[in-house]
Amino acid sequence: MSISSSQLLVIEIATCDIAEVRIDEVKNHRCLFSRKSFAQDEVIVSFNAKAVYTSPNYLTIQLGEHEHIELLPEYLECTNHSCDPNCFFETTGRQLVAIRNIRPGEELTFFYPSTEWEMDRTFQCTCGSDQCLGVISGARYLSSEQRRKYKFTDFITQKIGELSI
Ligand SMILES: [Zn+2]
Repeated sequence: MSISSSQLLVIEIATCDIAEVRIDEVKNHRCLFSRKSFAQDEVIVSFNAKAVYTSPNYLTIQLGEHEHIELLPEYLECTNHSCDPNCFFETTGRQLVAIRNIRPGEELTFFYPSTEWEMDRTFQCTCGSDQCLGVISGARYLSSEQRRKYKFTDFITQKIGELSI
């Protein structure tokens, strides 16, 4: 039986009923993988704030102009960015929602600018999607054409609206 290199390089470090955290030793970061099937629009898990900050850091998601939270349950901080995401942090109802059908074993990803207006750290995306946007800096820096492709939180939708006034 052959084992693919990706299987060798991924180490599982924590598990709950919904998902498990693994370390990708090639990219040297944590990843969250689903352990269940979710249908499009299904709530994966409700979340809350472990801590609230007035400015963003690499673990926070944005709720308001000066409101950035670290997540509870904590494993949600391992949810990585993708330009072709399968999840959405619905910050008004505080629920992580599937935006398409998700299979067990699939990595859970969200589009960082869907919650972030201006990110703490700009980065070069390597999500591998043929839709990949390249440099990710926050919703503020997306073109209107790029914005049309994505779902955003109520706060980001409001900020986008203010740009066009
Ligand atoms: Zn990408």
